[in-house]
Amino acid sequence: AKRESKNFIQQAIDADLASGRYSGVLTRFPPEPNGYLHIGHAKSICLNFGLAKEYGGSCNLRFDDTNPTKEETEYVDSIMEDIRWLGFEWDSLHYASDYFEQLYQWAEKLIAQGHAYVCDLTAEQTREYRGTLTEPGRNSPFRDRTAEENLDLFRQMRAGEFPDGSRSLRAKIDMASPNMNLRDPVMYRILRATHHRTGDDWCIYPTYDWTHGQSDSLEGITFSICTLEFENHRPLYDWYCQKLGIHHPRQIEFAKLKLTTLLMGKRHMLRMVKEGYVDGWDDPRMPTICGYRRRGYTPESIRRFCAEAGIAKFNSTIDIIRLENAVREHLNAVAPRRMAVLDPIKLTITNWPEGKVEMTEAVNNPEEPAAGKRKVPLSGHLLIEQDDFREEAPRKFFRLKKGGAVRLRAGYIVDCHDVVKDDQGNVVEILCTYDPETRSGQDTSGRKVKGTIHWVSAEHAVRVDVRLYDRLFTVENPGAPEEGKTFVDYLNPDSLKVISGFVEPALAEASVGERVQFERLGYYVVDRDSTEDRRVFNRIVSLRDTWGK
Ligand code: ATP
Ligand code: MG
Ligand code: MG
Repeated sequence: AKRESKNFIQQAIDADLASGRYSGVLTRFPPEPNGYLHIGHAKSICLNFGLAKEYGGSCNLRFDDTNPTKEETEYVDSIMEDIRWLGFEWDSLHYASDYFEQLYQWAEKLIAQGHAYVCDLTAEQTREYRGTLTEPGRNSPFRDRTAEENLDLFRQMRAGEFPDGSRSLRAKIDMASPNMNLRDPVMYRILRATHHRTGDDWCIYPTYDWTHGQSDSLEGITFSICTLEFENHRPLYDWYCQKLGIHHPRQIEFAKLKLTTLLMGKRHMLRMVKEGYVDGWDDPRMPTICGYRRRGYTPESIRRFCAEAGIAKFNSTIDIIRLENAVREHLNAVAPRRMAVLDPIKLTITNWPEGKVEMTEAVNNPEEPAAGKRKVPLSGHLLIEQDDFREEAPRKFFRLKKGGAVRLRAGYIVDCHDVVKDDQGNVVEILCTYDPETRSGQDTSGRKVKGTIHWVSAEHAVRVDVRLYDRLFTVENPGAPEEGKTFVDYLNPDSLKVISGFVEPALAEASVGERVQFERLGYYVVDRDSTEDRRVFNRIVSLRDTWGK
């Protein structure tokens, strides 16, 4: 049997289970509810929930809500919806804000032990005293307050005796540490802001570092998986757990998922939404999970992509084509085929009995025999793609040309004998005859033609709106603009084209979220903007990568 080699996180887990450091696996996904989740978060979700499942453990959802000015209930709700859509369910739900009282008590404990002090430096002075990477910091003049004095001041901080930003609580560690995070990090700041859950209960708020590890500990998390930028915070994570003498989870870092052409940070995404470069968080061009959902991506394809991208210890960027290929591959397997003509030209079959309609049978999915067949009405008046016809064409052009023949998908071979032109000399109608002996599946003619094209019957076709989405940015890394530019300078002016098209009648009743392959064109999904009499289709992805071609 083939043995997949384990990644470094699985190896670390195996080692800790073998040594008895932990007896099981409990992970968590800890988003800050300050925006919608993006495809990078999907990676972390798949990893945390995936490891829990693999090891027979559990995974919590915990909102890291310590930043009242940026957090909202709308984000909390969207995050839960997105995780469920991806196919995961948390074992228990928590909010860091539920731990505010416990964190406060623990802060008093550190003060009593002489490990924390109230500092009267302003934020700017604190930064200044912290030193630089090459120079040690200086001790705060307030560092040697007695435990009694600190306790008293800290209680007054909580009671609202001091103005915002006038004091902070800091851990007393080492102002000369080469790790900046250990130079007496701030634990609490004074901030009068209404929190989305605790309202105005608090006027002091804990920092991320003073919250995260202790929240993990309270929940009994064993493996606290985070991204590389927290590697430098690990000594502080460990320091707090040790000084408090509480359950000590193991923090393990991995590289963030980065994809070419995407701009993922919540800060940037918020700007795109607020300034109207896109039409909301779930605009199908956004890198958000809800954007991919509306675009028509399947949860399976995103999970598969995340699994195949793997886990790394070093930052790198993955080509967006890999994500696009993941959805192509999945939809190729599962999406029913339908015929749609998006840039129509008339094709008239001159020897077809006037008024006759024949129900031809078309295969729903050649990859999936169980998907069966459907009936498609064929008549003497069809629409085909402009692009599938040339009046004169090179030998290798296997679609239809004057004097040539082509097979109509699920229909007959037609021979083009003439065209009709308008005053400007443009072809407006193609005249063909059909060969009755060439009916698809019952061909007795022995004729072979190289090309097969799709079509719809003009009188039966249903008019729909089609949104042709493309990449939002034209460059590999819109997050690293040239001097004097911003991401706005790299927006793709053609990221959305709205056209109208014609689809076979089977799609007249298609429901929102239904995904199909428009034969020979690409994959499409019914958008929620659809109405009873006008369906709207979003292009999920073309059949092949045609970017820049
Ligand atoms: P951003 O600012 O891009 O939204 P963030 O890290 O501030 O990212 P959080 O809400 O703190 O967002 O993230 C929740 C979890 O998702 C964290 O554990 C974080 O490490 C992880 N995460 C965020 N971005 C990525 C990414 N690009 N790849 C993998 N994991 C990520
Ligand atoms: Mg964060
Ligand atoms: Mg953030």
